[in-house]
Amino acid sequence: MEKKQFQAESKRLLEMMVNSIYSQKEVFLRELISNASDAIDKIYYKALTDDQLTFSKDSYYIKITPNKENRTLTIRDTGIGMTKEELENNLGVIAKSGSLAFKSENEIKDGYDIIGQFGVGFYAAFMVADTVTVITKSLHSDQAFKWTSDGADGYTIEPWTKDDVGTEVILSIKDNSEEENYDDYLETYRLQSIIKKYSDFIRYPIKMETTKSSLKEGTEDEYVDETVEETINSMVPIWKKNKSELTEEDYESFYHEKRYGFDQPLKSIHINVDGTIRYNAILYIPETVPFDYYSKEFEKGLELYSSGVLIMDKCSDLLPDHFGFVKGLVDSEDLSLNISREMLQQDRQLKLIAKNISKKIKSELQSLLKNDREKYEKFYQAFGRQLKFGVYNDFGANKEALQDLLMFYSSKEKKLVTLDEYISRMPEDQKYIYYATGATNERISRLPQTELVADKGYEILYFTDDVDEFAIKMLMSYKEKEFKSVSSADLGIEDDQQDDQEENNEQYADLFSSMKELLEGKVKDVRLSKRLRTHPVCLTADGEVTIEMEKVLSMMPDNQNVQAEKVLEINPHHEVMTALQQAFNQDQEKLALYTNLLYHQALLIEGLPIEDPVEFTNNICKVMV
Ligand code: ADP
Repeated sequence: MEKKQFQAESKRLLEMMVNSIYSQKEVFLRELISNASDAIDKIYYKALTDDQLTFSKDSYYIKITPNKENRTLTIRDTGIGMTKEELENNLGVIAKSGSLAFKSENEIKDGYDIIGQFGVGFYAAFMVADTVTVITKSLHSDQAFKWTSDGADGYTIEPWTKDDVGTEVILSIKDNSEEENYDDYLETYRLQSIIKKYSDFIRYPIKMETTKSSLKEGTEDEYVDETVEETINSMVPIWKKNKSELTEEDYESFYHEKRYGFDQPLKSIHINVDGTIRYNAILYIPETVPFDYYSKEFEKGLELYSSGVLIMDKCSDLLPDHFGFVKGLVDSEDLSLNISREMLQQDRQLKLIAKNISKKIKSELQSLLKNDREKYEKFYQAFGRQLKFGVYNDFGANKEALQDLLMFYSSKEKKLVTLDEYISRMPEDQKYIYYATGATNERISRLPQTELVADKGYEILYFTDDVDEFAIKMLMSYKEKEFKSVSSADLGIEDDQQDDQEENNEQYADLFSSMKELLEGKVKDVRLSKRLRTHPVCLTADGEVTIEMEKVLSMMPDNQNVQAEKVLEINPHHEVMTALQQAFNQDQEKLALYTNLLYHQALLIEGLPIEDPVEFTNNICKVMV
């Protein structure tokens, strides 16, 4: 028996690799099972091209056997096996992949999802084992061989006896250490869960012996333990199946099996793409908002598989933030993985997939909106806020993609409407899309500022979410119609009384400038209102920052004290006008009192705090006595 050194710098490389490239030790099993699956793929491929060979699917499997007494874990496959040369070349030279060579020798391009390519996965075994033994018999040789290595000192190869073609990898599991409980890798339940996690969709059965307790015949309380052979993996992934074979229930139970959520998914999306990039995906739009969704703790992402093997639990690059609520997975055989298979080598393919997925989610949401309004509204109640953030974020980079998915409550329809629906109902003389902001729909509907627009018969969109107005400012217009707040200075409404108003403004110029003085620093201006019909006063804002925005910004942690340029508007048709004029002419103290009262009323209507409530209530009393 000859002992050989690993070639080149293998020794150091091996130590380094074993301890650094994999973040979790449990992946050794994924690597060994992937190798076993590759070996079966190869014999399957040979059988397809060689008439002498027959391939009966039943005789091809992978078997995992833990043995607690000997502290060994065996991974056996009925694959193609290795000759002595192959053992030397493939397991003696680190970073040499027999699988990659097999692919190029046989000019395999697609269809056969051979997983191996880096020639390092096998050595992951040394993360959990002191010694690794490989007993293998190749399809192309009558002689079997045994390869043994304890990692650091190279390996030995000797002839061995083995009846069937295939490979057995026997790991002598390390003793427990302080950091790691290696005993775990001899426990059936633990092994089962590792297999389920990473290798559930390996196409060949992964078998294990498990113990089942059953009632002893003829007794009522005596149990017997029985050992049965079970297939642990589910083999055919649902996403590789044909859509026509699957029912809505299948998708739903997969959603729960995967623990994507406890709710029922609102919609499932199954994508099979076979173009320049190939991938399958199953995506879900959940029904309810996860409790931590709008918090920093929430992590978006999809599971990423490469040829049926789990690579990443949460690949965040696959989802844009605005669709961060989507759950599901993507499987592609076209990903270039890095050596640990935990990260991707380069993300060109991933970017392509992400772009594709994003488009698909959008079109599915659009079709939901068109065909199942009730469901869409349910979705929108849960995640509409996220879409609006999506419009606002990244300086509006995604606004065009998202604008048709937005909905707002309508003053006329008394329900959520889309911007397109709003536009399509606009009378010809209406120039703008009007909106009003406030805490609730109910409160907005009573805002004095809405009077003129509502009188004109124009529809108003109600903004009750903090983000609404910011999103709309980013959008600026929809189908060439600009958005306009009912509080903005110029409403763009032709008003019959406009000319009178100009005159009136002049007539009241002195009164208003005194009032402005009295409200020094609190308002930018006092003006006659063009928008009020029955109410005496309201507050509006000049410039970009609206009162609602001031409120939202003041609640932000990095509050910059951004202030709206407030304007106190007075209704010229209201009786208060006469009272103000009289006070102005005769009694300056009264004017100060009235101005103060009107200003505070306007603050109250806007939902803004009153600086001194005691003074305000005292002032009211002054009017009474
Ligand atoms: P990779 O799988 O990335 O090619 P590995 O280090 O896991 O790298 O394996 C190296 C090579 O050893 C494989 O490419 C394959 O040729 C061979 N090999 C490993 N395990 C087996 C097995 N169970 N049966 C047959 N060949 C195997």
